[in-house]
Amino acid sequence: MTDHTPNPDSQRKLIIAIDGPAGAGKSTIASRLARKLGYVNLESGAMYRALALKAIDNDVSFDDEAALLELAQASRIRLEPTMGGNRTLLDGHDVSSRIRERDVTEAASRVSVHLQVRAWMVARQREMGAGGGVVMEGRDIGTKVFPDADLKIFLDADPVVREQRRMEQQKIKGEVAANVAADLRERDRRDRTRAASPLQAAADAVVIDSTKMGEDEVLAQVEELARRKLER
Ligand code: C5P
Repeated sequence: MTDHTPNPDSQRKLIIAIDGPAGAGKSTIASRLARKLGYVNLESGAMYRALALKAIDNDVSFDDEAALLELAQASRIRLEPTMGGNRTLLDGHDVSSRIRERDVTEAASRVSVHLQVRAWMVARQREMGAGGGVVMEGRDIGTKVFPDADLKIFLDADPVVREQRRMEQQKIKGEVAANVAADLRERDRRDRTRAASPLQAAADAVVIDSTKMGEDEVLAQVEELARRKLER
């Protein structure tokens, strides 16, 4: 016997949704939080990226919703959590690096505008997270994938700061950096203005503006919110 009586609910496995625009720090926070809680981190964006790659490789137009849906249905897209993010497998091949390249990044935000593609992705994502013990990040996790998530975070930051972070992450400067900034702005615009599940904070999300915050500070705040949910 110990004098520390465990909270009967402490084994409850939460579903934590982290949404926000590109460059706000979602991936880092989600993977560090998952590690702290012993949860699985799932990057939903990697699934849209994998489908976009398949569309590129099969010459399927990013505007052809029916063909994209068919392609998705014929694909095996798997996310394998690792210490440094998700390993993404497309039809058994590791495409983790390839899907981060510029052409796939742009294509991902174009294939993701389609309602039927999104419905297919959302169904897969629900299956993956259903058991709880997950930190899932994306654009519509708190609004669509898990509207009843235990904790919803909307992580935002000033666009200029997000662009700078992305450039630092990728260690790029000059003309390439200008392209990255322009791409990020365009992707943001598309994600926020599309008709199907546009990027927006869920009404019950905790909005964190990380513009002037360090990564550790954001993590501490999010972890505190998660621990409070676990103590309930
Ligand atoms: O998060 P990441 O930058 O990898 O996402 C790539 C693209 O996939 C986003 O720009 C967005 O268009 C799309 N996406 C989405 N819904 C999600 C995750 C990503 O529409 N839940």
